[in-house]
Amino acid sequence: MPTAVISDIHGNAVALRAVLADIDSRGVDRIICLGDIVGYGPEPLPCVDLVAQRCAWSLIGNHDFAVLYEPTNFNPTAEQAAFWTRDQFDAEPDEQARTRRYDFLSRLRVRVVELVPESDIPILAVHGSPRRPINEYIFPDDVMTAADKMRQIFELIDRVAIVGHSHVPGVFTDEPDFYPPDELGGMTYTFSAEEKAVVNVGSVGQPRDHDPRASYAILHPDRVEFVRVEYNVRRTAEMIFAIDALNDWLGERLLEGR
Ligand code: ZN
Repeated sequence: MPTAVISDIHGNAVALRAVLADIDSRGVDRIICLGDIVGYGPEPLPCVDLVAQRCAWSLIGNHDFAVLYEPTNFNPTAEQAAFWTRDQFDAEPDEQARTRRYDFLSRLRVRVVELVPESDIPILAVHGSPRRPINEYIFPDDVMTAADKMRQIFELIDRVAIVGHSHVPGVFTDEPDFYPPDELGGMTYTFSAEEKAVVNVGSVGQPRDHDPRASYAILHPDRVEFVRVEYNVRRTAEMIFAIDALNDWLGERLLEGR
């Protein structure tokens, strides 16, 4: 059975529900999550509850870490959003629900290695990068400007890694090279014994590749398929505009996908 990979939901429950419906409509019944369930978005609690219910496992992202512990290297807008997000967890009047959510966050894993479904290809899953799993970005520009960084990252990978964090979907190969999904035939990358790959599945709740649609990926035994899903972006943006602690920019960027 294929596995759906979601990441960077960022408290956008409208986008998450649309993605889960799309996954269900394809008959895919196993879902994993690469972290940043919360942060920036207006509905952190429903997002945590849905991931807890629907995903086989989830990793911890830097924004989940910020709610549990503290924001690290956040800009003022992100930090303010992180403290507001933590307040939502703390304001839950039902003590059992509050404890259950904090327990869930505290059990999120930093890295997972498993096999691509029905294959012998090992896959490493981290939120950011194999070197610094929670916080390091791997940007498309790095293939041109950061040769040492890319080499060190690929040395830590057997065959394939899946990541999120940059909110830009695509495939890095150990050439090194970067391919956005629409430069891959059929939005699909086929695994090859000849090259290593880092697959960024993009972001469900805050895409930054100038396409506002939610992004996720489906792992098949021999390939990974990128998927985009339309959702009511305006609805999430309006919720953000109505919350003082969430900077309006966080809503505006959703409308533009950046
Ligand atoms: Zn993120």
